[in-house]
Parts: sequence; C-alpha cells; structure tokens
Amino acid sequence: MDLVQKEHERLWKRLQSSKGISDVQATIDLLQEARDTIAADPTKASITLAKLQNPVKASFDATNESLKETHSSLNKYTKALDKLFKDRPLPSIEYDALSSSPALVNRAIAMHLLREGQFSVAATFLSEVSEKMASAQPGNDGQGRPEDADALSLEQIQSGEIRKQFANMYEILHELKEESNLLPAIQWAREHREALEARGSNLEFELCRLQFVWLFHGGKDRQGSFVSGRQAALEYARREFHVFLPRYQREVQQLIGAMAFCPNLEDSPYRAIFNNPTAWTDVAHSFTREFCSLLGLSADSPLYIAATAGAIALPTLLKLQTIMKAKRTEWTSQNELPVEIPLPPSYLFHSIFVCPVSKEQTTDQNPPMMMPCGHVIAQESLTRLSKGSKFKCPYCPNESHPRDARKVFL
Ligand SMILES: [Zn+2]
Repeated sequence: MDLVQKEHERLWKRLQSSKGISDVQATIDLLQEARDTIAADPTKASITLAKLQNPVKASFDATNESLKETHSSLNKYTKALDKLFKDRPLPSIEYDALSSSPALVNRAIAMHLLREGQFSVAATFLSEVSEKMASAQPGNDGQGRPEDADALSLEQIQSGEIRKQFANMYEILHELKEESNLLPAIQWAREHREALEARGSNLEFELCRLQFVWLFHGGKDRQGSFVSGRQAALEYARREFHVFLPRYQREVQQLIGAMAFCPNLEDSPYRAIFNNPTAWTDVAHSFTREFCSLLGLSADSPLYIAATAGAIALPTLLKLQTIMKAKRTEWTSQNELPVEIPLPPSYLFHSIFVCPVSKEQTTDQNPPMMMPCGHVIAQESLTRLSKGSKFKCPYCPNESHPRDARKVFL
C-alpha cells in the first residue's frame, strides 16, 4: 500500500505542476504571435516563419519530455496497483441483479452526483443517458424499455427542482463552513420551523446557540475586546432566544449563566459549550441531515452506502463463488444472498422477521401477522393453521380468529 501511496503522490504532484499545459500554451502563443505578424504585414512571412523554427521545435521537445515523464509515472503507478491487487478477480457477472434495471441505476448515479454538489457532471450524465436511451429506443425488442424511459424522464423533470434544492443546500453549507456565517442556515431553519419541530429536530436552536457562542468569542474579528463580544452575544440572546424558551429553557439558562464565569470560562462547568472543537462540523452535519430529510432523502448517499456495503461483502462473495464452483452447486434464491454478510450497525436499515412456524422470512406478499395474544407468525402460516376459523396460537394457549390478526409493519 505504501508503494501505491508514493506513486500516487508522485503522479499527483506531476499533474498539479501542470508543466505540460504551460509548455503547450507557450507554443500556441508563439504561433499566434507569428500569425498576427504575418497578417499585419504579409511581406514578413518568410522571415517570421524562419524565426519560428527553432523556438517551436524546442517547445515541442519540452512538451514531449514532460509527457514522457508523466507516462513513466503513470506506468509505475499502474504497476504498483497491479502488484497490490493481483490475484483478486472480481466476481463474475452471472448474477448481475442490476442489469435488468438500468433506469434505477442511472437514477441512483444522477442523484448521487446532485447530492454531492457535482451539478455539471450530473447534467452531462443525464443528457448522455437520455441520448443513449433515445438511440436505443427504435428497433428495440421493447421488453421493459418503455418503463425505463418513463422512470428516467420523470427523473429528468424532477432533477431541475431537486438540483435547485441541492444548489441551495451547498450555498448555505459554503457560507457556514467557509465563511463562518450561520445566518443563511438559521434563516432556512426558521422557514422550515414547523416541519423540523414535527421531526423533533433541534437544528434551529443548535444553530442559534452556535451563533451566540461565535458572537461571544468576538464574532468576525476574533481580536475584538472581550466586553464587546459578550455584549453582542447578550443582545443576540435577548433578541432571539425568547422563541426557544418553552423547549430549551435549561440550555438557554446555561448560556446566560456562563456569562457569570467570564472571563474564566475555561474552569467553568460551561467550557464544553464554549470550546467545542467539533461544533461547526456537527452543526453542518445536522443541517445536511435535516435538509435531506425534508426532501424525503437520507442524509448519506444511498449509492455510496450500497457501494461500501458491496465492498464489505466482496471477499465473502468471492469465497462463495469458489466454493460453489468446487462443489458444482448453484445459487438459486434470486433476491437473497445465500450467506450472511455482517455489516456495521449504521448500515442496517430494514428489520426482517422469520416466521417461527414456517421458518421463512416474511415478505410483502406474506407479511408478519400479530394475533390478539401478541404472538406473531407469517400470514401463510396463519392461513394454514386456522383454515379460516378460530384456532389455537402455536405458542400459547390463547385461541383467536384470523380476522383479529393484525399486519405488522417492519
Ligand atoms: Zn399466542
């Protein structure tokens, strides 16, 4: 890994210096200058061209030299990569579950680019996909294609609006992170107060609390006198904090109480509030999360999560493939992996329920049903056991009628 890192850095440095580009630009300048001279006075053509020969050759040589170096670094980097990742083939694509839903995959990619703020890349991607689909449309066997097209064109319509939303999010985040300006974020939180409160979000208060702390420390000019910072923070609290009192009385009391310890906050019980090194990143993260959730999206990109989970699963899947080949068995269950893939807790989104009677995992078609006694079995088991009339619960002495069973939502 060290070697790869080293070669990568070398290549990166080379690209950063962009010597090649400046060399080429110098040649272009040279040629343009010559053209202008000749255009202005055609009699000077031969002498200008003669004068051009040596510098142009030198310039070409320099460009080639720098290209050579870049090529050799690139080669070394490729070799280092090959060396590190040898003997690790990717699983074969026999079970490519995604190939049947290109529209969904494309939508996931487009949404990922938008939420990463890569707006121009997303626009190019969407236009290229639609071009490709338009050219694939006529003469196609027609299977499943029309729906795909619908899914994406719908997405394209939406992407305009969603693009605007994400652009807005990035603008606010930029102000927050780069300029230490919380006001646009506070303004947004204020406009969405009701929706945020319904979610039990503390975002608006968190933002305003940080604004208070920021003012307290002197605001824009951190060298400002202690007294003026404190005064500004106090004024801010008087002006803004009354709306927070019903919900955050204790927190507001802490902020105001801290005033009494100034200038010795370091030794006070409130030092964590006033010297929190992660306060800005925390609040930026909360903002991103709330913003996405009001759009009906998760805070992290689903594509990123899926790809990471896939990378975690890859070694297991490769091993499985080897075993299946050796034993000549096949993987028959289409939508289910034949092995457990342990994922970190933050990657677990959907609870599953296995029916204790049939030992089968429940699905949308065969959902878990809770009987009045509180025991849960799959619907098919319930139908089989009850045969439409009153029956005894397989786990307790209670009897119940299938119509009293309730569907359980996971
Ligand atoms: Zn029971």
